[in-house]
Amino acid sequence: ATPAATMVGSTLSATNGVLFKGGDVLEQVRGIDTVVFDKTGTLTHGEMVLTDVELVGERAAPDGGTAADDDTAADGGALAAPDERDGDLESYVLGAAATAESGSEHPIARAIVDAADERGVAVGEVSEFENVPGHGIRAETDRGSVLVGRRKLLEDAGIDTEPAEETLTRLEREGKTAMPVAIDGRLLGVLAVADEVRESATQTVSALRERGTEVVMLTGDNELTARAVAQAVGIDPENVRAEVLPEDKADHVEELQAGDEGSSVMMVGDGVNDAPALTTAQVGVAIGSGTDVAIESADVTLMRDDPADVLKAVRISEATISKVR
Ligand code: ADP
Ligand code: MG
Repeated sequence: ATPAATMVGSTLSATNGVLFKGGDVLEQVRGIDTVVFDKTGTLTHGEMVLTDVELVGERAAPDGGTAADDDTAADGGALAAPDERDGDLESYVLGAAATAESGSEHPIARAIVDAADERGVAVGEVSEFENVPGHGIRAETDRGSVLVGRRKLLEDAGIDTEPAEETLTRLEREGKTAMPVAIDGRLLGVLAVADEVRESATQTVSALRERGTEVVMLTGDNELTARAVAQAVGIDPENVRAEVLPEDKADHVEELQAGDEGSSVMMVGDGVNDAPALTTAQVGVAIGSGTDVAIESADVTLMRDDPADVLKAVRISEATISKVR
């Protein structure tokens, strides 16, 4: 870009809450033909709230239940809380999960801990804690050994998640992130968290598509949840890349850009997980309230956290170049 173009662009961008890191970026933005959105914190607010606490396992198999055998009521279906534990089993599951999550900074962890606090469910002590990125957490607590996260986290520990499948699937179809909870090797419950779609996400996706831009979603979340959110904002199911591990996000961007026929990708994200993908993309765009690493890795920052400003960035780029020419 000429110095004049840079100046015009910077002036425009400053008043619009869109910050470009230099004139080259300003020029590149108009050339993009694909926009890849991270889901959590980008298309959605990223403020997770606990929506469901469900019991599974023993209830589904009253005769063959593995937990609380001694306490199983005579009617065969009702499940009595183990006597050394106060309160109902839902609170027990929530309390154990919140205890395990108390060492994590993940938005899911915060939602679970906050819900326990709000419901007056005590959070206990953690002696060992392991965060498994993209999968969940393992913790040794005063409530026992706790696993919370994706099905695979439990399966890898030899715990069958099939008894939770119906519950998990139902919650995921609602666009929620559902996680089985195991305590001392027993599958006991399912927790679900949800997050609101940002207001302008839908209109932004449709305006981009009208421009002829391909719109893709990239997320670590599961397929069903991702598709439900994609449907809510108007992204094609075949453009949903779900269950992508943090370290693999950049590879997906690279794949889209590969070859002579490769796309020119704008990646929009907020998280630490997104940083390598933001760097890999032709144009990386960070949500202003996102993590510092994301902002540092990006070429453009949206100061108002509004996905609609992606479109504004494109318009600014187009207007600036044509004006100067
Ligand atoms: P995203 O790309 O949506 O930010 P992550 O890669 O951080 O997601 O996590 C992917 C999935 O791993 C989550 O949807 C969740 O199922 C599971 N997960 C990650 N961290 C946690 C946690 N602290 N507790 C429970 N589950 C977790
Ligand atoms: Mg995110």
